[in-house]
Amino acid sequence: MRIHAFRTALMSIKRNYHSAKGTNRLMRLNSSLLDTKWIQVPVFTWVIEHPEGVIVIDTGETANVHNPSHFPAYQLPYWETQYRFMIEPQDELGAQMQRAGIPVQDVRWVVLTHTHFDHTDGINQFENSEIVISRKEHDDVYRYRSLHFAFPANWSKRLKMNIIDYVPEAMGPFSESYPLTKSGDVRIVPTPGHTLGHQSVVLQNEGLSYFFAGDASFDLLSLMNNIIDAPAFDADKTRKTRQKILDFALDTPTVYLTTHDLETGRRLEQRIPLYEDKHFPNRKQQPKERATRVYHRSI
Ligand SMILES: [Zn+2]
Repeated sequence: MRIHAFRTALMSIKRNYHSAKGTNRLMRLNSSLLDTKWIQVPVFTWVIEHPEGVIVIDTGETANVHNPSHFPAYQLPYWETQYRFMIEPQDELGAQMQRAGIPVQDVRWVVLTHTHFDHTDGINQFENSEIVISRKEHDDVYRYRSLHFAFPANWSKRLKMNIIDYVPEAMGPFSESYPLTKSGDVRIVPTPGHTLGHQSVVLQNEGLSYFFAGDASFDLLSLMNNIIDAPAFDADKTRKTRQKILDFALDTPTVYLTTHDLETGRRLEQRIPLYEDKHFPNRKQQPKERATRVYHRSI
């Protein structure tokens, strides 16, 4: 089995988008809107070459994000002033996978942690795959559409959605889960908070768990220091979910992999368990290299 972390883009966001101020979501989003300081974060996706089929976790950004028609016209002032995207067509996940010798046609499952734009804009590259989404996330994205920070209007009509319900099979502190593989080594667990339908993927291999956490926290620093991001829908649920992740990682050594952590690739390559990682990212760090980068781990 091989696991890959593909960085599909670098994205500049307001500092308060990452570390929001305020007790409710409106205040948090407002603190981000008014902030004048920017930080740069990566947009990671993951690919597991599993014996039962290739698993993709989140689809990353698309270069089409540079096209104003990507956004609803009335929201353009927001998107053009609050985000800066560094991505070209050759950086998209499909193109990167092709170069790594994993054709997108071979992908069996695409698990969406949630449907925010930076996790689903690349979804149209996966018309041949089964798109695995939680029922709550599916309901919310089609109900709120672009107000859910997602653009389902841009999604191909040919996508094959598999809307999942969790079963009462506990995995540590998580009372419910969804078995993705027959062998039972890859399970999906509900991790609500950032969105109410947010979910994470856990691969268990030889006593080590790989926790693909999406935006359960933007990075390890946020998990350890209880930093809530501006778009997080429900801060209380976010904290409860994070406590479960921390408890889970106490029971079983866990490599914690999030979408917007500059250190995600290094953590995967070196298999550094959560509680043993002393190298918290320095948020002033600005990568000088191009947007894309790929990290590999054979297990
Ligand atoms: Zn995100």
